[in-house]
Amino acid sequence: MKIGILTIGNELTSGRTQDTNSSFLARAFATQGWQVTLMTSVGDEDRVIKQALGFILAQSDAVVVTGGLGPTADDMTTEAIARAFGLGLYMDQTVLRHIRGIFEKYHLNWTENNAKQAVFPEGAEVIANPVGTAAGFALKQKGKLIVVIPGVPREVERMLPEGVFPLLRREFPEAVQQVAVRTIKSFGLGEAVVDKALADLDFERLSVTVGFYPNFPENHIVLTARGATESEAVSRISAAEAGVVDRLKKYIFAYDSETLEGLAAKLMTEKGWTLAVAESCTGGLVTDRLTDVPGSSVFLERSVITYSNAAKTDLLGVPTAILEKYGAVSEQTARLMAEGVRKLACTDLGLAITGIAGPAGGTDQKPVGTVYIALADEKETLCRHYTFRWDRRRNKVISSQAALLLLKRYLSGEREDV
Ligand code: ATP
Ligand code: MG
Repeated sequence: MKIGILTIGNELTSGRTQDTNSSFLARAFATQGWQVTLMTSVGDEDRVIKQALGFILAQSDAVVVTGGLGPTADDMTTEAIARAFGLGLYMDQTVLRHIRGIFEKYHLNWTENNAKQAVFPEGAEVIANPVGTAAGFALKQKGKLIVVIPGVPREVERMLPEGVFPLLRREFPEAVQQVAVRTIKSFGLGEAVVDKALADLDFERLSVTVGFYPNFPENHIVLTARGATESEAVSRISAAEAGVVDRLKKYIFAYDSETLEGLAAKLMTEKGWTLAVAESCTGGLVTDRLTDVPGSSVFLERSVITYSNAAKTDLLGVPTAILEKYGAVSEQTARLMAEGVRKLACTDLGLAITGIAGPAGGTDQKPVGTVYIALADEKETLCRHYTFRWDRRRNKVISSQAALLLLKRYLSGEREDV
């Protein structure tokens, strides 16, 4: 089934309100396996609403409209739609009683314009609104379905699963399909490289659609498959996933709702180990991400942001001579930071990051983006060197990613990839 989305309101076309309804609806339809053909926003204007409906319905089986069902004069969606299809209007007495009931319950002053929300185009089917006064409605015209609901996002979120989905399924029973979605999260390869690496996979033959979503510094590969049954959809996904994993294994670190920090935290907790972190160029970002995970206090003992040379010496015991000889951004310093913070906190592991985020501070030998990440346990200290090529913020973000990846791989025993 092909669906168009039409959002109505001057607040949208003036840029005062961002159209979040469209993206919410599109995501929800995707979970049902329904294709969204187009999304359009128009102001509260009769003629434009009519034109937009005609345009959308020319390429869709159904259109879902939000906004402009309120009691005020500028809300004119119902009237505009009735006129677009040459339909008269009627007042629904049940809806009118319901709205009056809400006013009485909350001791609100009734004004006649509120009755407007009980008016519908002839032949419309009312869609109840469990969280507001404006009911929605649906119309069938020339085999096409027009569904109209209020614009308030909270009301959209309730009415979609409760009122709109059942209606769409009833009207388009052949479009009811099971959908399986798998998100594969990769890091370390550009979008174009991922695309190329997967070029030989015949997703079409497997009836799987593939999407690439860069989410700096990660690249997400989203596989979607439909089937008459859930197991059919899932088995299609599995076949495609095996192909992707085979080609990108080294770069894949998580699936679906998993996050890098979440996986590192889970492994730390499972092992019952403790961690201390010393951050320089990331300014606390690694710790921020780790502490996003509920329960991180179980393993995270402390973090220090040792930005200056003095802090690296005072708090972590990095000798001044080392800082002078090799620099604050060096393998030697990174190793001593990791060992120092581990010793300071008496933890199982010490993780340290030092680098040049930019835009200034780079040299020929150590350009902007030079980063050293070290991880110390009781026996040894691993150290990795990177040269990132982004702006300041992104260099910080990607450094935090590399640090968490080092930790996660160390914990999961993927030593050869560490
Ligand atoms: P109600 O009678 O409940 O007000 P309505 O259909 O008249 O419903 P609108 O007046 O168009 O809804 O919008 C109500 C609120 O919802 C406004 O605050 C508006 O900014 C917001 N809104 C409307 N459309 C959208 C949209 N597409 N995305 C996000 N917010 C929206
Ligand atoms: Mg409005």
